[in-house]
Amino acid sequence: MTVDPALSALAKPIESGQPWPRPACPKCQAGYITFAPPVEDESHSSASARGHDAFEPEWITGTFVIRGQCENPECQQAVHGTGDYEVGVSRLSGEDHDYDYSYGPPYSSYLTVTHLHPPMLMMPIPKSAPDEVREGVMRASRVLFADPGLAATALRATVERFLTSAGISATQPTGQFRTAHERINEWRDADLTRPPIADLFFAVKWLGNAGTHEDSDLTTIEVLDGARVLDEAFHRLFLGPDIDAHAKTINAAKGPSRLP
Ligand SMILES: [Zn+2]
Repeated sequence: MTVDPALSALAKPIESGQPWPRPACPKCQAGYITFAPPVEDESHSSASARGHDAFEPEWITGTFVIRGQCENPECQQAVHGTGDYEVGVSRLSGEDHDYDYSYGPPYSSYLTVTHLHPPMLMMPIPKSAPDEVREGVMRASRVLFADPGLAATALRATVERFLTSAGISATQPTGQFRTAHERINEWRDADLTRPPIADLFFAVKWLGNAGTHEDSDLTTIEVLDGARVLDEAFHRLFLGPDIDAHAKTINAAKGPSRLP
């Protein structure tokens, strides 16, 4: 399993009438979330402008809510979402458009998600990963759509949480905080197998630095690309231990370990 492609699809404006992406359920991680059609609310200023002589459908803006549910009958987790929409020329062919005027091209609403609750997990968390890593990924996931710069910063912090759990000190003997760069270097140099993984950590660190800047214009898609890099690093670090643990349960049960 890797970073859910449905999240990248949710990060782009979705034309009304188009089917919504189906992300993996954050609760059971076995089912997928199916969304019902969104409900749009035009903003007051947008509605007031409709009487203007120069009015064009492109002026229309508003907010929307959407409800989804996990299709796994054992889970049925509800997901609530919200965001903004604006109106633009439709990319769909055919007759099914929201705004048809007697002249000009057909228009549609384009919906941009800003929040989903409970948050979609940005990347799978290996079972053997320490709790600090799990918390870091959860924290990044909560702001993925609302504030991509902050999500990138939280991903960088996840690398730092991992380094702390691996025994790489966050402070110097003088009490001063060490940079992420310095700490990754120390972790890398302790083992010959680590340099390729350290390179992945550095990439996440650079994205985090870009996200931390006051004028950060990092997009959700770019943060998800960073999550893909971190996922690969964790995959290499924890997949072996995950498989070892699974083999242990099979050996203990002398067969497949099944829940009663
Ligand atoms: Zn579910």
